[in-house]
Amino acid sequence: MTQTSEPERLVMHSGDAQQPFRYAVGRYGSRFFMALRDEKRLLGIRCPRCRKVYVPPRQVCGPCFERMEELVEVASTGTLVAYTILRFSFLDPETGKQKPVPYGYGFIQLDGSDNAFQHFIEIRDEARIHIGARMRAVFRDTRRGTLGDIRHFEVLA
Ligand SMILES: [Zn+2]
Repeated sequence: MTQTSEPERLVMHSGDAQQPFRYAVGRYGSRFFMALRDEKRLLGIRCPRCRKVYVPPRQVCGPCFERMEELVEVASTGTLVAYTILRFSFLDPETGKQKPVPYGYGFIQLDGSDNAFQHFIEIRDEARIHIGARMRAVFRDTRRGTLGDIRHFEVLA
């Protein structure tokens, strides 16, 4: 057995791995993203039992375990109910690159919905960001049918 004073060196490789994939977003997801892309409208779904509206739509009401089928339009405005401002960069899973900071991320209760919708929030004028702030969605001119079709939410003037 040989003793060495040199630390063992690990072999390191670096590079990019391409992992393209496609997946179905489901019936309600498809309707949600098509309305967002084609009409800049936000769709929710209403529970037939408790009448709560969820955005984005999903199949089952969590509290009631009731199957939901009634798609309803909700506003692209709402109230900021929670937020954070990120000041430390990390790898953005969408790009694989460091995400520029600072940026805001918030939970917005859209008018006509009962849950909070999560998205980026504009923080250029940070003094205007607060719980209870009225917000509006800012849509991209070119939309692809993703949540990125909303650039961010900003405080209403
Ligand atoms: Zn319900």
